[in-house]
Amino acid sequence: MFLISAPPAFFIHKAILPALRRRGPTPVRDQLQSVSTRRREKISADEEERLRMGCEIKTGFRFPKRDGKPSYRTATARKDGATVATLFYGNAATLWRINFGWTRRKRGEQGFLLDMERGYWGKGPEGDAPDNEDGLSALVARVIPFVEDRRNCLIFQPEAILEDYQMASLQSALKNAVQVRFQLEENELAAEPLPSFMDRRMILFYESAEGGAGVLRRLLDDGRALAEVAEEALRICHFDPASGLDVGGPPGAAEKCEAACYDCIMNYGNQKDHGALDRHSIREYLLELAGSALEASPGEKPRGEHLADLMKRCDSELEREWLRFIDEQGLNLPTHAQYLIRECETRVDFFYDLGAEKAAVFVDGPVHDDAGRRERDRRVEGCLEDLGVVVARFGHGEDWGRILKGFCGIFGNAKEDN
Ligand SMILES: [Zn+2]
Repeated sequence: MFLISAPPAFFIHKAILPALRRRGPTPVRDQLQSVSTRRREKISADEEERLRMGCEIKTGFRFPKRDGKPSYRTATARKDGATVATLFYGNAATLWRINFGWTRRKRGEQGFLLDMERGYWGKGPEGDAPDNEDGLSALVARVIPFVEDRRNCLIFQPEAILEDYQMASLQSALKNAVQVRFQLEENELAAEPLPSFMDRRMILFYESAEGGAGVLRRLLDDGRALAEVAEEALRICHFDPASGLDVGGPPGAAEKCEAACYDCIMNYGNQKDHGALDRHSIREYLLELAGSALEASPGEKPRGEHLADLMKRCDSELEREWLRFIDEQGLNLPTHAQYLIRECETRVDFFYDLGAEKAAVFVDGPVHDDAGRRERDRRVEGCLEDLGVVVARFGHGEDWGRILKGFCGIFGNAKEDN
């Protein structure tokens, strides 16, 4: 746990949240270094417990930086040409949980009293004793504790403007559905409203374990996954996912589920929201989402723009043809085109920078058939492989579809043939 002596600005990633710019990020500052208190566990899904105890906890996050730029991926769920939702995903984003103090604290008093000499906390809102017997020493400070962690984070932003009660219902339904779809335990995935519980415009999902199971990334990698999650969410909310008809409740239940029940979107973790939950309020939206297709981009720009950038950098018509081939099948686009790898003194046609995994793609025209050229290609290939870069080579006239199948981890899975 860290402590700060000045209220931090609510720290949230500004690049993707234009609506929140007025809260613009300020670095957390005045970090206290000299006080030691008991260290709390890492951020986990049982944070809701703390909220029930009556503290105002806000979450901030920031996507990791690479080459000085925030690094995240964007995807758009679209139906009939219209955007249904936008997703932002970052590996190992920084999360802060900042505890601003008791919800029933006096106005203007943020944080908690801390005995700077001995590391004891001051009174709670009910006037209960400090956590030692003999009171606080003269040297007390008001501090705002926070924890910082790295998590794989996904932000879900519905295009439609949904009311807070709808967002609360949607958050619970999607969280349950992701858990079912990817066979996660309840405590492996956390979901929270952003920017706050009182003002719900986005849903932040994060994997509770450091490193995580990579589930949230798979939502972007597999173009069907989000729609399937929405179908599952409809099922969980007692609707037929195909027709949207109200089934009324869980199979065999004696009573109809009116707004919400423990079989759909109520759970012990979201008690604060119970009064607001209403499965009917999100039926329309979930049907839209279930009918949508996800267009994922490997970078911050939407897929269409990213593709146009790649096209511009192509060296040959054959390379452009390869990009179109990848795009038309809804496969993962490369992160870079004409990418220089100094160590191997080569510029690869396309490059996939997937964090831990990296791949180089060569699209070879007839010139590569030459024996001398082939020898050089082999040398470069060996060098790349020594760097841990996967090499995929697509020759002119070869069956590209067959080659792709050998690299599903990089390109994803092609659409089913109709
Ligand atoms: Zn129910």
